[in-house]
Amino acid sequence: MTTSTVPQNLQDVRQKISAAAERCGRAPEEITLLAVSKTKPVTAIEDAIAAGQRAFGENYVQEGVEKILYFRQTHQDIALEWHFIGPLQSNKSRPVAEHFDWCHTIDRLRIAQRLSEQRPDTLPPLNVLLQINISREESKSGILPDELPALAASVAALPNLRLRGLMAIPAPEADHQRQLAVFRRMYDLFQQLQADHAHVDTLSMGMTDDMAAAIEAGSTLVRIGTAIFGARDYGATARNA
Ligand SMILES: *Cc1c(COP(=O)(O)O)cnc(C)c1O
Repeated sequence: MTTSTVPQNLQDVRQKISAAAERCGRAPEEITLLAVSKTKPVTAIEDAIAAGQRAFGENYVQEGVEKILYFRQTHQDIALEWHFIGPLQSNKSRPVAEHFDWCHTIDRLRIAQRLSEQRPDTLPPLNVLLQINISREESKSGILPDELPALAASVAALPNLRLRGLMAIPAPEADHQRQLAVFRRMYDLFQQLQADHAHVDTLSMGMTDDMAAAIEAGSTLVRIGTAIFGARDYGATARNA
């Protein structure tokens, strides 16, 4: 039997979160660790659950829904939280509305309206984040900062969604100070949004390679895949986004 590295990796990541938080005078509990399990088998997720992890992020609708249904069957007594963090097409919104707890990638009103219409009455509102194209990359998902107030107002008015905050995937950047500058722009937008909307409490930013800078700038949720589950093999899993 091979020994999973997932529990040790999780412990290392939690320690890094605590260290980054303490360096800038924040409480580690302010930062949620989202384990990004896309392309990884359910056995890897089981190892993470056994090590106490409860929140998981998935990028592909069908793969994510299959995992959610599997764990609802096999781990009925453990409350897991599932976050959709991939690009979302209109024609794939229904399974997200019906099965996920969060969606991080809202970048147009039409998608938000569909998710609200399709959210079953038996479930609490779907928690949503607006995705900001903070690096202003051509061909990248997310709205530009100027578009935020209008989209936020429309999304906040939808009955079956709860606007919880913002998410960003900045362009890869190795230098800590430059990472920090981009994340600080996100934090400013987050504070503006908080001033206008009561339920806003979540700033989703920071991945394996820029987690420390994100926490320093005020992230409340880091999305970590590689550092927990190892490198991804995209050839191994069918693409169903
Ligand atoms: C894959 C992915 C992550 C995790 O990235 P790592 O670098 O493996 O930690 C985080 N956020 C999003 C939106 C992703 O697609």
